[in-house]
Amino acid sequence: MTENNIRIVVSGPRGKMGREAVHMITRTDHFQLVGAIDHKYDGKLLSDLEEFPDVDVPIFTDSDLCFSSTKPDVLVDFTNPEAGMRLAASALNNGIRPVIGTSGFTEESVHHFQKIAEEKRIGMIIAPNFAIGAVLLMKFSQMAARYFPDVEIIEQHHDKKLDAPSGTAIKTAEMIRTVRGDKQQGHPSEKELLTGARGAELSGMRIHSVRLPGLIAHQQVIFGGEGELLSLRHDSMNRSSFMTGVRLAVETVMTLDTLVYGLENILE
Ligand code: NAP
Repeated sequence: MTENNIRIVVSGPRGKMGREAVHMITRTDHFQLVGAIDHKYDGKLLSDLEEFPDVDVPIFTDSDLCFSSTKPDVLVDFTNPEAGMRLAASALNNGIRPVIGTSGFTEESVHHFQKIAEEKRIGMIIAPNFAIGAVLLMKFSQMAARYFPDVEIIEQHHDKKLDAPSGTAIKTAEMIRTVRGDKQQGHPSEKELLTGARGAELSGMRIHSVRLPGLIAHQQVIFGGEGELLSLRHDSMNRSSFMTGVRLAVETVMTLDTLVYGLENILE
């Protein structure tokens, strides 16, 4: 360990994403995992849990106590929206930079944290999707929407996912909206025979959410034009696909003094 190590606390370490984050951090030379926040196992070590036999860092249920005891530079959060918002606020109050992977942060909450991060001059990153390929899909979709303003999004996830549509689908639609604005799509008099048949709606774009066991995280963006279709698709095959982005976010948040929303805003 050198003095230049970035000291990191992970919240939600037993979860599917938190577990990957713990392993990525312990395998990265210039990162140092110094603690974990969970709502269980207070006072135990991660190595007391089956998943992490070699990771001797303390688990806290009280975030303030965790931050004052372990003095991290960065909090990496993969919990749920309620816990994530509480932990992000606690991190900022303690001068610690939050890297938030938890999805379901509303537009209002992003603005709220933007204000606090700016006031305190502390870096923060909220990224609904850390997979570099998914972020490129969003960028390519924004590019294509200039020429193909009629678009529908189909996102597919495992059936344990709590929020719908996915943060990535919402973010994709928001990015497309910046180039094409609001647009009524489909027949002006179309009528749903079953509620929800046309999916959720954001500025006229339809978003369809599929939830099935066997899926991880997948998104297709379909553009329709005169006599042609363009389909863009990204598939995360496993959760390690998100870790390149988490690593980049942890490195980048150290250089920020404000909030950045979306990994696309830190990719060159
Ligand atoms: P998960 O497997 O359910 O993990 C969540 C973990 O958080 C669980 O271990 C849970 O413990 C724990 N937890 C719940 N409340 C807590 C609290 N108050 N304090 C600390 N820990 C708490 O979910 P996941 O699949 O890892 O996903 C986590 C989040 O990341 C979700 O919002 C998901 O949508 C998002 N996600 C983001 C990306 C991205 O690229 N940004 C990618 C995939 C997923 P219990 O099980 O005991 O409740």
